[in-house]
Amino acid sequence: MEDPKTSGLRVIIIGGAITGLTLAHCLDKADIDYVVLEKHQDIRANIGGSIGLQPNGLRILDQVGVYDHLKKWRNDTDVMKPILPDGFCLGYPMTMVRRAGVLDALYTSLKDQSKIKLGAKVVSINRSLAPDGRLRVDTEDGQHYTGDVVVGADGVHGIARAQMWRMMDQKKPGMITDQERESMTVDYIGIFGITEPIESITDSLNPTEMYVPSYPKANWFVQAHVDNTVTWCLNLRLDKTYLLREFHRWSPEQVSEKMKDFLEYDIWGSIKFRHLWERTTTVSAAPLYEGLMTTWTFGGIACIGDSVFKLTTVTGKGANISIESAAALANTLHQLSVRERKPSNAEIQAALAESVEGVQRKLRTVSAVSYRATRVCTLESVQEWFFFRYLCPMTWRILFSVTFNEFRTAETLSYLPLPHRAIRAAERLGNAQRRKKMMIGLGALIGLGVCYYCFPL
Ligand SMILES: Cc1cc2nc3c(=O)[nH]c(=O)nc-3n(C[C@H](O)[C@H](O)[C@H](O)COP(=O)(O)OP(=O)(O)OC[C@H]3O[C@@H](n4cnc5c(N)ncnc54)[C@H](O)[C@@H]3O)c2cc1C
Repeated sequence: MEDPKTSGLRVIIIGGAITGLTLAHCLDKADIDYVVLEKHQDIRANIGGSIGLQPNGLRILDQVGVYDHLKKWRNDTDVMKPILPDGFCLGYPMTMVRRAGVLDALYTSLKDQSKIKLGAKVVSINRSLAPDGRLRVDTEDGQHYTGDVVVGADGVHGIARAQMWRMMDQKKPGMITDQERESMTVDYIGIFGITEPIESITDSLNPTEMYVPSYPKANWFVQAHVDNTVTWCLNLRLDKTYLLREFHRWSPEQVSEKMKDFLEYDIWGSIKFRHLWERTTTVSAAPLYEGLMTTWTFGGIACIGDSVFKLTTVTGKGANISIESAAALANTLHQLSVRERKPSNAEIQAALAESVEGVQRKLRTVSAVSYRATRVCTLESVQEWFFFRYLCPMTWRILFSVTFNEFRTAETLSYLPLPHRAIRAAERLGNAQRRKKMMIGLGALIGLGVCYYCFPL
Protein backbone atom coordinates (compact mmCIF):
# COMPACT_ATOMS: atom_id res chain seq x y z
CA MET A 1 0.00 0.00 0.00
CA GLU A 2 1.18 3.48 -0.84
CA ASP A 3 2.29 5.57 2.11
CA PRO A 4 -0.28 8.40 2.58
CA LYS A 5 2.60 10.86 2.53
CA THR A 6 3.56 9.72 -0.96
CA SER A 7 0.06 9.20 -2.32
CA GLY A 8 0.48 12.71 -3.66
CA LEU A 9 -2.90 14.17 -2.70
CA ARG A 10 -2.36 17.91 -2.38
CA VAL A 11 -4.92 20.36 -1.08
CA ILE A 12 -4.95 24.12 -1.58
CA ILE A 13 -6.95 25.96 1.06
CA ILE A 14 -8.06 29.48 0.19
CA GLY A 15 -8.62 31.54 3.34
CA GLY A 16 -6.69 31.39 6.59
CA ALA A 17 -9.40 32.20 9.11
CA ILE A 18 -11.30 29.82 11.41
CA THR A 19 -12.48 27.36 8.76
CA GLY A 20 -9.27 27.34 6.72
CA LEU A 21 -6.92 27.04 9.69
CA THR A 22 -9.04 24.30 11.26
CA LEU A 23 -8.82 22.33 8.02
CA ALA A 24 -5.06 22.92 7.97
CA HIS A 25 -4.78 21.29 11.42
CA CYS A 26 -7.00 18.39 10.32
CA LEU A 27 -4.91 17.76 7.18
CA ASP A 28 -1.72 18.03 9.16
CA LYS A 29 -2.94 15.24 11.45
CA ALA A 30 -3.97 13.18 8.41
CA ASP A 31 -0.52 13.61 6.89
CA ILE A 32 -1.97 15.22 3.78
CA ASP A 33 0.05 17.81 1.90
CA TYR A 34 -1.56 21.25 1.89
CA VAL A 35 -0.98 24.96 1.58
CA VAL A 36 -3.13 27.82 2.91
CA LEU A 37 -3.41 31.03 0.88
CA GLU A 38 -4.53 34.01 2.94
CA LYS A 39 -4.89 37.47 1.46
CA HIS A 40 -4.16 39.38 4.65
CA GLN A 41 -0.63 39.91 5.89
CA ASP A 42 -1.57 39.57 9.54
CA ILE A 43 -3.56 36.43 10.15
CA ARG A 44 -4.23 37.29 13.78
CA ALA A 45 -5.47 40.84 13.19
CA ASN A 46 -7.90 41.96 15.85
CA ILE A 47 -10.90 42.11 13.54
CA GLY A 48 -14.33 41.22 14.85
CA GLY A 49 -15.70 40.79 18.33
CA SER A 50 -16.36 37.53 20.15
CA ILE A 51 -17.09 34.17 18.62
CA GLY A 52 -19.28 31.61 20.35
CA LEU A 53 -17.55 28.23 20.55
CA GLN A 54 -19.70 25.27 21.52
CA PRO A 55 -19.00 21.62 22.36
CA ASN A 56 -19.31 20.42 18.75
CA GLY A 57 -16.62 22.84 17.54
CA LEU A 58 -14.45 22.53 20.65
CA ARG A 59 -14.38 18.72 20.50
CA ILE A 60 -12.84 18.87 17.02
CA LEU A 61 -10.38 21.56 18.11
CA ASP A 62 -9.45 19.27 21.01
CA GLN A 63 -8.88 16.35 18.63
CA VAL A 64 -6.33 18.38 16.68
CA GLY A 65 -4.69 19.83 19.79
CA VAL A 66 -5.92 23.43 19.65
CA TYR A 67 -8.35 23.38 22.58
CA ASP A 68 -5.73 23.89 25.29
CA HIS A 69 -4.28 26.85 23.37
CA LEU A 70 -7.66 28.59 23.67
CA LYS A 71 -7.56 28.53 27.44
CA LYS A 72 -6.24 32.04 27.97
CA TRP A 73 -8.90 33.49 25.67
CA ARG A 74 -11.96 31.63 26.87
CA ASN A 75 -14.96 33.02 28.77
CA ASP A 76 -17.06 29.99 29.60
CA THR A 77 -20.74 30.61 30.17
CA ASP A 78 -22.86 28.82 32.74
CA VAL A 79 -26.02 29.10 30.71
CA MET A 80 -26.26 25.47 29.66
CA LYS A 81 -24.71 23.73 32.63
CA PRO A 82 -27.89 22.57 34.31
CA ILE A 83 -28.98 20.54 31.34
CA LEU A 84 -26.80 17.48 31.78
CA PRO A 85 -27.34 15.43 34.92
CA ASP A 86 -23.68 15.85 35.85
CA GLY A 87 -23.45 19.49 34.86
CA PHE A 88 -21.14 19.06 31.89
CA CYS A 89 -21.66 19.87 28.23
CA LEU A 90 -20.13 16.80 26.61
CA GLY A 91 -16.96 17.65 28.45
CA TYR A 92 -16.75 21.11 26.88
CA PRO A 93 -18.20 24.45 27.87
CA MET A 94 -20.14 27.01 25.91
CA THR A 95 -17.57 29.70 25.58
CA MET A 96 -17.03 33.14 24.09
CA VAL A 97 -13.63 33.87 22.62
CA ARG A 98 -12.36 36.94 20.82
CA ARG A 99 -12.15 36.18 17.10
CA ALA A 100 -8.53 37.32 17.23
CA GLY A 101 -7.95 34.83 20.07
CA VAL A 102 -9.33 31.90 18.08
CA LEU A 103 -7.12 32.84 15.12
CA ASP A 104 -4.12 33.23 17.41
CA ALA A 105 -4.65 29.78 18.95
CA LEU A 106 -5.18 28.14 15.55
CA TYR A 107 -2.15 29.81 14.00
CA THR A 108 0.40 29.55 16.78
CA SER A 109 -0.38 25.89 17.47
CA LEU A 110 0.07 24.86 13.84
CA LYS A 111 3.13 22.64 13.45
CA ASP A 112 4.42 24.14 10.22
CA GLN A 113 3.47 27.79 9.76
CA SER A 114 5.46 28.00 6.53
CA LYS A 115 2.49 26.28 4.90
CA ILE A 116 0.47 29.42 5.42
CA LYS A 117 1.18 31.93 2.67
CA LEU A 118 0.29 35.41 3.84
CA GLY A 119 -0.53 38.27 1.49
CA ALA A 120 -1.55 35.65 -1.07
CA LYS A 121 -4.77 36.92 -2.59
CA VAL A 122 -6.25 34.33 -4.94
CA VAL A 123 -7.50 35.72 -8.24
CA SER A 124 -8.31 32.63 -10.30
CA ILE A 125 -8.65 28.86 -10.29
CA ASN A 126 -8.30 26.78 -13.44
CA ARG A 127 -7.90 23.16 -14.33
CA SER A 128 -4.35 22.96 -15.63
CA LEU A 129 -3.64 21.65 -19.11
CA ALA A 130 -0.72 19.61 -17.76
CA PRO A 131 -1.03 15.81 -18.11
CA ASP A 132 -1.83 15.38 -14.42
CA GLY A 133 -4.83 17.73 -14.85
CA ARG A 134 -4.46 19.26 -11.38
CA LEU A 135 -6.15 22.50 -10.39
CA ARG A 136 -4.06 25.63 -10.67
CA VAL A 137 -4.58 28.55 -8.31
CA ASP A 138 -3.12 31.94 -9.19
CA THR A 139 -2.51 34.73 -6.72
CA GLU A 140 -2.41 38.46 -7.27
CA ASP A 141 1.36 38.56 -6.73
CA GLY A 142 1.90 36.24 -9.69
CA GLN A 143 2.43 32.95 -7.81
CA HIS A 144 0.87 29.65 -8.95
CA TYR A 145 -0.06 26.70 -6.78
CA THR A 146 -1.27 23.33 -8.04
CA GLY A 147 -3.31 20.77 -6.18
CA ASP A 148 -5.86 17.96 -6.54
CA VAL A 149 -8.45 19.70 -4.39
CA VAL A 150 -9.05 23.41 -3.87
CA VAL A 151 -10.99 24.30 -0.74
CA GLY A 152 -12.83 27.61 -0.56
CA ALA A 153 -12.66 28.66 3.10
CA ASP A 154 -12.63 32.27 2.01
CA GLY A 155 -15.81 33.64 3.49
CA VAL A 156 -19.00 35.08 2.14
CA HIS A 157 -17.35 37.10 -0.65
CA GLY A 158 -14.99 34.27 -1.51
CA ILE A 159 -13.30 33.83 -4.84
CA ALA A 160 -13.54 30.01 -4.77
CA ARG A 161 -17.33 30.04 -5.04
CA ALA A 162 -17.20 32.57 -7.88
CA GLN A 163 -14.60 30.51 -9.75
CA MET A 164 -16.61 27.34 -9.21
CA TRP A 165 -19.66 29.04 -10.70
CA ARG A 166 -17.58 30.23 -13.64
CA MET A 167 -16.39 26.67 -14.31
CA MET A 168 -19.97 25.42 -14.07
CA ASP A 169 -21.15 28.11 -16.49
CA GLN A 170 -18.44 27.10 -18.93
CA LYS A 171 -19.56 23.49 -18.74
CA LYS A 172 -23.27 24.16 -19.00
CA PRO A 173 -24.71 27.68 -18.87
CA GLY A 174 -27.51 27.91 -16.33
CA MET A 175 -26.19 25.13 -14.06
CA ILE A 176 -26.16 27.70 -11.29
CA THR A 177 -29.60 29.24 -11.11
CA ASP A 178 -30.26 32.92 -10.48
CA GLN A 179 -32.09 31.89 -7.34
CA GLU A 180 -28.92 30.27 -5.99
CA ARG A 181 -26.77 33.24 -6.95
CA GLU A 182 -29.08 35.47 -4.91
CA SER A 183 -29.60 33.08 -2.02
CA MET A 184 -27.63 35.11 0.52
CA THR A 185 -29.56 38.07 1.85
CA VAL A 186 -29.11 40.71 4.53
CA ASP A 187 -31.84 41.77 6.96
CA TYR A 188 -29.53 42.77 9.82
CA ILE A 189 -26.26 44.52 10.38
CA GLY A 190 -24.03 43.57 13.29
CA ILE A 191 -22.00 46.26 15.02
CA PHE A 192 -19.13 44.63 16.95
CA GLY A 193 -17.30 46.54 19.65
CA ILE A 194 -14.51 45.93 22.14
CA THR A 195 -14.07 48.28 25.11
CA GLU A 196 -10.91 49.14 26.98
CA PRO A 197 -10.71 47.40 30.39
CA ILE A 198 -13.42 48.92 32.62
CA GLU A 199 -13.54 47.55 36.11
CA SER A 200 -16.54 49.64 37.17
CA ILE A 201 -18.63 47.86 34.54
CA THR A 202 -17.12 44.40 34.64
CA ASP A 203 -17.81 44.34 38.38
CA SER A 204 -21.50 44.26 37.51
CA LEU A 205 -21.22 41.87 34.59
CA ASN A 206 -20.43 38.25 35.28
CA PRO A 207 -17.95 36.87 32.71
CA THR A 208 -19.66 33.49 32.87
CA GLU A 209 -22.91 35.01 31.66
CA MET A 210 -23.93 36.61 28.41
CA TYR A 211 -26.31 39.53 28.53
CA VAL A 212 -28.89 39.76 25.77
CA PRO A 213 -30.96 42.95 26.11
CA SER A 214 -33.63 42.89 23.41
CA TYR A 215 -35.67 45.73 22.00
CA PRO A 216 -37.86 45.92 18.93
CA LYS A 217 -35.58 45.59 15.88
CA ALA A 218 -32.38 45.73 17.95
CA ASN A 219 -30.66 43.44 20.37
CA TRP A 220 -27.24 43.17 22.04
CA PHE A 221 -25.03 40.32 23.04
CA VAL A 222 -22.75 41.64 25.75
CA GLN A 223 -19.90 39.67 27.23
CA ALA A 224 -17.45 40.72 29.94
CA HIS A 225 -14.02 39.12 29.66
CA VAL A 226 -11.44 38.00 32.17
CA ASP A 227 -9.15 40.90 31.18
CA ASN A 228 -11.95 43.37 32.15
CA THR A 229 -12.72 44.30 28.55
CA VAL A 230 -16.26 43.95 27.27
CA THR A 231 -17.17 42.78 23.79
CA TRP A 232 -20.58 43.67 22.50
CA CYS A 233 -22.51 43.00 19.35
CA LEU A 234 -25.55 45.03 18.42
CA ASN A 235 -27.83 43.39 15.86
CA LEU A 236 -29.88 45.98 14.04
CA ARG A 237 -32.79 45.37 11.68
CA LEU A 238 -32.21 47.15 8.38
CA ASP A 239 -34.86 49.09 6.51
CA LYS A 240 -35.32 46.26 3.97
CA THR A 241 -33.91 42.97 2.80
CA TYR A 242 -30.75 43.43 0.71
CA LEU A 243 -29.16 40.95 -1.66
CA LEU A 244 -25.50 40.05 -1.13
CA ARG A 245 -24.37 42.26 -4.01
CA GLU A 246 -26.62 45.19 -3.02
CA PHE A 247 -25.47 45.90 0.50
CA HIS A 248 -22.89 48.64 0.96
CA ARG A 249 -20.78 48.54 4.06
CA TRP A 250 -21.35 51.25 6.63
CA SER A 251 -18.57 53.76 7.07
CA PRO A 252 -17.22 54.40 10.62
CA GLU A 253 -18.99 57.78 10.55
CA GLN A 254 -22.30 56.12 9.66
CA VAL A 255 -21.86 53.65 12.53
CA SER A 256 -21.04 56.42 15.04
CA GLU A 257 -24.04 58.44 13.93
CA LYS A 258 -26.37 55.45 14.24
CA MET A 259 -25.07 54.52 17.69
CA LYS A 260 -26.30 57.87 19.03
CA ASP A 261 -29.86 56.51 18.76
CA PHE A 262 -29.06 53.76 21.26
CA LEU A 263 -27.00 55.50 23.94
CA GLU A 264 -29.72 55.55 26.57
CA TYR A 265 -30.83 51.94 26.09
CA ASP A 266 -30.48 49.80 29.22
CA ILE A 267 -28.00 46.93 28.99
CA TRP A 268 -28.02 45.48 32.50
CA GLY A 269 -28.84 47.01 35.88
CA SER A 270 -27.63 50.60 35.81
CA ILE A 271 -25.40 50.04 32.77
CA LYS A 272 -26.58 51.84 29.68
CA PHE A 273 -25.17 51.37 26.22
CA ARG A 274 -23.59 54.83 26.56
CA HIS A 275 -21.24 53.41 29.25
CA LEU A 276 -19.92 50.83 26.81
CA TRP A 277 -19.85 53.07 23.77
CA GLU A 278 -17.82 55.81 25.49
CA ARG A 279 -15.06 53.30 26.29
CA THR A 280 -15.19 51.34 23.04
CA THR A 281 -11.78 51.26 21.37
CA THR A 282 -12.47 48.96 18.42
CA VAL A 283 -15.65 48.92 16.42
CA SER A 284 -16.55 47.21 13.18
CA ALA A 285 -19.78 46.73 11.31
CA ALA A 286 -20.62 43.68 9.26
CA PRO A 287 -23.80 42.75 7.44
CA LEU A 288 -25.27 39.61 8.97
CA TYR A 289 -25.80 37.57 5.85
CA GLU A 290 -28.24 34.69 5.95
CA GLY A 291 -28.45 31.88 3.46
CA LEU A 292 -27.53 28.37 2.53
CA MET A 293 -26.10 27.61 -0.91
CA THR A 294 -27.05 24.31 -2.52
CA THR A 295 -23.91 23.85 -4.62
CA TRP A 296 -20.79 23.44 -2.51
CA THR A 297 -18.55 21.49 -4.81
CA PHE A 298 -17.73 21.15 -8.47
CA GLY A 299 -14.70 20.13 -10.52
CA GLY A 300 -12.45 19.47 -7.53
CA ILE A 301 -13.32 22.73 -5.73
CA ALA A 302 -15.13 22.34 -2.42
CA CYS A 303 -16.48 25.34 -0.53
CA ILE A 304 -17.04 25.21 3.21
CA GLY A 305 -17.66 27.62 6.09
CA ASP A 306 -18.99 31.09 5.50
CA SER A 307 -18.45 30.82 1.75
CA VAL A 308 -21.55 28.63 1.43
CA PHE A 309 -23.66 29.19 4.50
CA LYS A 310 -24.28 32.15 6.72
CA LEU A 311 -26.18 32.37 9.95
CA THR A 312 -26.57 35.48 12.06
CA THR A 313 -24.63 35.59 15.31
CA VAL A 314 -27.73 34.87 17.43
CA THR A 315 -27.42 31.10 17.90
CA GLY A 316 -23.61 31.28 17.96
CA LYS A 317 -23.42 28.26 15.68
CA GLY A 318 -21.70 29.76 12.61
CA ALA A 319 -18.09 29.14 13.56
CA ASN A 320 -18.90 25.73 15.06
CA ILE A 321 -20.62 24.38 11.98
CA SER A 322 -17.76 25.84 9.93
CA ILE A 323 -15.37 23.77 12.06
CA GLU A 324 -17.62 20.74 11.55
CA SER A 325 -17.63 21.32 7.80
CA ALA A 326 -13.82 21.36 7.84
CA ALA A 327 -13.76 18.11 9.81
CA ALA A 328 -16.25 16.41 7.47
CA LEU A 329 -14.13 17.36 4.48
CA ALA A 330 -10.94 16.23 6.23
CA ASN A 331 -12.53 12.80 6.90
CA THR A 332 -13.22 12.42 3.19
CA LEU A 333 -9.76 13.59 2.17
CA HIS A 334 -8.21 11.21 4.66
CA GLN A 335 -10.16 8.29 3.19
CA LEU A 336 -8.98 9.30 -0.28
CA SER A 337 -5.38 9.69 0.83
CA VAL A 338 -5.05 6.20 2.30
CA ARG A 339 -6.23 4.39 -0.82
CA GLU A 340 -3.78 2.02 -2.43
CA ARG A 341 -3.47 4.21 -5.49
CA LYS A 342 -3.96 7.89 -5.97
CA PRO A 343 -7.66 8.57 -6.68
CA SER A 344 -8.63 9.90 -10.10
CA ASN A 345 -10.14 13.36 -10.49
CA ALA A 346 -13.56 11.76 -11.01
CA GLU A 347 -13.21 9.76 -7.79
CA ILE A 348 -12.15 12.86 -5.89
CA GLN A 349 -15.11 14.82 -7.19
CA ALA A 350 -17.60 12.06 -6.30
CA ALA A 351 -16.15 11.81 -2.78
CA LEU A 352 -16.35 15.59 -2.28
CA ALA A 353 -20.00 15.62 -3.35
CA GLU A 354 -20.84 12.90 -0.84
CA SER A 355 -18.86 14.62 1.89
CA VAL A 356 -20.68 17.93 1.82
CA GLU A 357 -24.12 16.32 1.68
CA GLY A 358 -24.19 15.39 5.38
CA VAL A 359 -23.29 18.89 6.54
CA GLN A 360 -25.85 20.41 4.20
CA ARG A 361 -28.59 18.17 5.59
CA LYS A 362 -27.83 19.28 9.14
CA LEU A 363 -27.62 22.90 8.13
CA ARG A 364 -31.14 23.00 6.75
CA THR A 365 -32.55 22.69 10.27
CA VAL A 366 -29.86 24.84 11.89
CA SER A 367 -30.45 27.66 9.37
CA ALA A 368 -34.21 27.58 9.92
CA VAL A 369 -33.77 27.75 13.70
CA SER A 370 -31.20 30.57 13.42
CA TYR A 371 -33.51 32.53 11.13
CA ARG A 372 -36.41 32.34 13.57
CA ALA A 373 -34.26 32.92 16.70
CA THR A 374 -32.85 36.11 15.17
CA ARG A 375 -36.33 37.51 14.66
CA VAL A 376 -37.43 36.43 18.13
CA CYS A 377 -34.47 38.23 19.74
CA THR A 378 -35.27 41.46 17.91
CA LEU A 379 -38.96 41.16 18.81
CA GLU A 380 -39.96 41.42 15.16
CA SER A 381 -43.68 40.97 15.74
CA VAL A 382 -46.14 40.55 18.57
CA GLN A 383 -45.93 36.76 18.20
CA GLU A 384 -42.16 36.86 18.50
CA TRP A 385 -42.33 39.14 21.50
CA PHE A 386 -44.89 36.77 23.11
CA PHE A 387 -42.69 33.76 22.38
CA PHE A 388 -39.58 35.44 23.85
CA ARG A 389 -41.39 36.85 26.85
CA TYR A 390 -43.60 33.92 27.86
CA LEU A 391 -42.80 30.70 25.98
CA CYS A 392 -38.99 30.84 25.98
CA PRO A 393 -38.66 30.84 29.78
CA MET A 394 -41.00 27.83 29.93
CA THR A 395 -39.40 25.88 27.11
CA TRP A 396 -35.72 26.78 27.32
CA ARG A 397 -34.85 23.41 28.84
CA ILE A 398 -36.44 21.62 25.90
CA LEU A 399 -34.73 23.95 23.40
CA PHE A 400 -31.37 23.34 25.04
CA SER A 401 -31.87 19.56 25.14
CA VAL A 402 -32.47 19.61 21.38
CA THR A 403 -29.21 21.52 20.97
CA PHE A 404 -27.52 18.98 23.19
CA ASN A 405 -28.51 16.14 20.99
CA GLU A 406 -27.02 18.03 18.08
CA PHE A 407 -23.71 18.25 19.94
CA ARG A 408 -23.75 14.60 20.79
CA THR A 409 -24.20 13.47 17.21
CA ALA A 410 -21.98 16.18 15.69
CA GLU A 411 -19.09 15.53 13.32
CA THR A 412 -15.73 14.41 14.70
CA LEU A 413 -12.50 13.44 12.97
CA SER A 414 -12.88 9.74 12.26
CA TYR A 415 -9.14 9.10 11.96
CA LEU A 416 -8.20 10.56 15.34
CA PRO A 417 -9.14 9.21 18.77
CA LEU A 418 -11.76 11.07 20.75
CA PRO A 419 -10.17 13.31 23.41
CA HIS A 420 -10.32 12.05 26.99
CA ARG A 421 -12.70 14.92 27.92
CA ALA A 422 -15.25 13.74 25.38
CA ILE A 423 -14.90 10.09 26.42
CA ARG A 424 -15.25 10.89 30.12
CA ALA A 425 -18.29 13.07 29.51
CA ALA A 426 -19.91 10.39 27.32
CA GLU A 427 -19.29 7.80 30.05
CA ARG A 428 -20.79 10.08 32.68
CA LEU A 429 -23.78 10.74 30.48
CA GLY A 430 -24.16 7.00 29.76
CA ASN A 431 -24.03 6.20 33.49
CA ALA A 432 -26.57 8.91 34.25
CA GLN A 433 -28.88 7.58 31.54
CA ARG A 434 -28.50 4.02 32.81
CA ARG A 435 -29.29 5.21 36.34
CA LYS A 436 -32.36 7.01 35.03
CA LYS A 437 -33.56 3.89 33.18
CA MET A 438 -32.98 1.77 36.29
CA MET A 439 -34.97 4.21 38.39
CA ILE A 440 -37.82 4.15 35.86
CA GLY A 441 -37.68 0.32 35.78
CA LEU A 442 -37.64 0.15 39.57
CA GLY A 443 -40.52 2.62 39.76
CA ALA A 444 -42.54 0.53 37.32
CA LEU A 445 -41.81 -2.64 39.28
CA ILE A 446 -42.85 -1.06 42.58
CA GLY A 447 -45.97 0.31 40.86
CA LEU A 448 -46.87 -3.17 39.58
CA GLY A 449 -46.16 -4.64 43.03
CA VAL A 450 -48.48 -2.10 44.68
CA CYS A 451 -51.20 -2.80 42.07
CA TYR A 452 -50.87 -6.53 42.63
CA TYR A 453 -51.03 -6.05 46.40
CA CYS A 454 -54.11 -3.80 46.22
CA PHE A 455 -55.95 -5.66 43.47
CA PRO A 456 -54.94 -9.35 43.70
CA LEU A 457 -56.17 -11.46 40.77
C1 LIG B 1 -13.75 40.53 9.78
C2 LIG B 1 -14.69 39.52 10.35
C3 LIG B 1 -15.18 39.69 11.64
C4 LIG B 1 -16.05 38.76 12.18
N1 LIG B 1 -16.48 38.96 13.45
C5 LIG B 1 -17.31 38.06 14.00
C6 LIG B 1 -17.76 38.23 15.34
O1 LIG B 1 -17.42 39.18 16.00
N2 LIG B 1 -18.61 37.29 15.85
C7 LIG B 1 -19.02 36.19 15.13
O2 LIG B 1 -19.75 35.35 15.65
N3 LIG B 1 -18.59 36.01 13.86
C8 LIG B 1 -17.76 36.92 13.29
N4 LIG B 1 -17.32 36.72 12.01
C9 LIG B 1 -17.77 35.52 11.28
C10 LIG B 1 -17.04 34.27 11.72
O3 LIG B 1 -15.65 34.50 11.77
C11 LIG B 1 -17.36 33.19 10.72
O4 LIG B 1 -18.77 33.00 10.67
C12 LIG B 1 -16.77 31.83 11.04
O5 LIG B 1 -15.65 31.93 11.81
C13 LIG B 1 -16.40 31.10 9.76
O6 LIG B 1 -15.44 31.84 9.10
P1 LIG B 1 -14.69 31.42 7.78
O7 LIG B 1 -13.30 31.06 8.13
O8 LIG B 1 -15.48 30.42 7.00
O9 LIG B 1 -14.75 32.77 6.94
P2 LIG B 1 -14.14 34.20 7.27
O10 LIG B 1 -14.05 34.43 8.72
O11 LIG B 1 -14.91 35.16 6.45
O12 LIG B 1 -12.65 34.12 6.68
C14 LIG B 1 -12.36 34.04 5.31
C15 LIG B 1 -10.87 34.23 5.12
O13 LIG B 1 -10.58 34.13 3.73
C16 LIG B 1 -9.72 35.18 3.35
N5 LIG B 1 -9.92 35.46 1.94
C17 LIG B 1 -11.03 35.95 1.36
N6 LIG B 1 -10.85 36.08 0.01
C18 LIG B 1 -9.60 35.62 -0.23
C19 LIG B 1 -8.84 35.49 -1.43
N7 LIG B 1 -9.30 35.88 -2.63
N8 LIG B 1 -7.58 34.99 -1.34
C20 LIG B 1 -7.06 34.62 -0.15
N9 LIG B 1 -7.73 34.73 1.02
C21 LIG B 1 -9.00 35.22 0.97
C22 LIG B 1 -10.13 36.33 4.27
O14 LIG B 1 -9.09 37.28 4.40
C23 LIG B 1 -10.40 35.61 5.57
O15 LIG B 1 -9.23 35.47 6.35
C24 LIG B 1 -16.46 37.63 11.42
C25 LIG B 1 -15.97 37.45 10.12
C26 LIG B 1 -15.08 38.38 9.59
C27 LIG B 1 -14.55 38.17 8.18
